[in-house]
Amino acid sequence: MSEKKQFRAIKGTRDILPPESALWNWFERQSRDTFEAYGFRDIRTPIFEDTYLFARSVGTDTDIVSKEMYTFATSSAGATSDSGDQMSLRPEGTASVCRAYIEHGMHTLPGNVKLYYSGPMFRRERPQKGRYRQFYQMGAEVLGPSDAPGIDAEVIEMLVVLFRRAGLENITLYVNSIGCKECRPKYVEILRAELRKVKDQLGADSQRRIDTNPLRVLDSKLPEEQPIIETLPRISDHLCEDCRTHFTKLRDELALRHIDYQENWRLVRGLDYYTRTTFEVTASGLGSQNAVCGGGRYDGLVELLGGPPTKGIGFAIGTDRAILSIQESGKLPHLPGVAVFIAWMGQKAYPTAVAMAQKLRECGLIVEIPAEEMKFKKSIGLADKLGAKYALIIGEDEIATSTYALKRLADANQQKLAEPELLEYLESERRGL
Ligand code: ATP
Ligand code: MG
Repeated sequence: MSEKKQFRAIKGTRDILPPESALWNWFERQSRDTFEAYGFRDIRTPIFEDTYLFARSVGTDTDIVSKEMYTFATSSAGATSDSGDQMSLRPEGTASVCRAYIEHGMHTLPGNVKLYYSGPMFRRERPQKGRYRQFYQMGAEVLGPSDAPGIDAEVIEMLVVLFRRAGLENITLYVNSIGCKECRPKYVEILRAELRKVKDQLGADSQRRIDTNPLRVLDSKLPEEQPIIETLPRISDHLCEDCRTHFTKLRDELALRHIDYQENWRLVRGLDYYTRTTFEVTASGLGSQNAVCGGGRYDGLVELLGGPPTKGIGFAIGTDRAILSIQESGKLPHLPGVAVFIAWMGQKAYPTAVAMAQKLRECGLIVEIPAEEMKFKKSIGLADKLGAKYALIIGEDEIATSTYALKRLADANQQKLAEPELLEYLESERRGL
């Protein structure tokens, strides 16, 4: 035990430190405020669940379930007959939300149930820029009796409004319809037949997917496969009447809301549970990991998990990537820093300094006060290094006259103020601090 071990964060995980963490909090706050304005409410679910829940909903053939989940055995001591004996760290949020919806009988709630969540997800992927093994998502789900295209459009509108608010630059919204359980299987067979004809020209992954999941071939990023994929049959030509009508109405609803988007027939998404509407948002500055949000409709999922017939639609924003994109754009929001550093000198000044710190914090200002006496120059030097806007100087003279010297550190401008004026002045300056 004498050897010193340097512990480091595990590969694919990372620490989010200040000042970056303030940007995270800001973005999450923008998200919550936006979601709540649309009537969504917070749901917090556990970060691990029965492995089978994810296998069932995300799909056993998907990359997520077949190779990316962190799965471990439950201890037999606590196991009950109705729980599986394997659990997994959640790789995504929708399955848990649907599980909770069923478990708590939320289908009896009036209208559509609108929920949002925020938190870490876990996937064993190859770590790289914008791709981590512990990453964060903010997501929203609408569950209930209706699949009106207006719901899809409102969810998409909410997303666009949030990204605009958060200053995410150069985003592109892609929209598609991947049909339903009536028309999609027929299309998949047509696609499979066509893929078999060009099998020799495809890479190993795509060749394998012809059998397991032909839709995923459309997702391929391999340059040499692109010309072939472009010639494949498109789902839009094979949608059933109901799906086609739904998609047409969705386009109308998006136009009504002045939302710019591009149709992308290859947007099939990696999860099995999607039906009809799928969408994705990409942002600039992220290299090849440029998807900041993915979402879609999943009308059969609640039923598949043992719940009542329920329609559903939702999305998940990759918070890590959203933050990266904001950082790359260079347009960072103004985030409050230390407003006032209290430079006190002399033990007689200390009680007043402490009282003043309390009052200023009460006004909503960020205040630093050294716990030990410091020489004036050192005090101002530290205030500067901490990025404080003002130094409030409290010495024995100030106590005697009940006026305080407020020094603006940027230009050394100094004013002498009595307590009420001081509080009033800082209060009026608060927005810019
Ligand atoms: P990708 O194609 O980039 O792998 P995905 O289709 O697997 O994304 P979803 O499951 O739809 O992603 O998750 C929604 C969002 O979560 C993505 O658009 C992305 O922003 C983010 N995300 C997914 N996986 C990761 C990861 N490993 N690290 C960071 N963010 C991720
Ligand atoms: Mg992925």
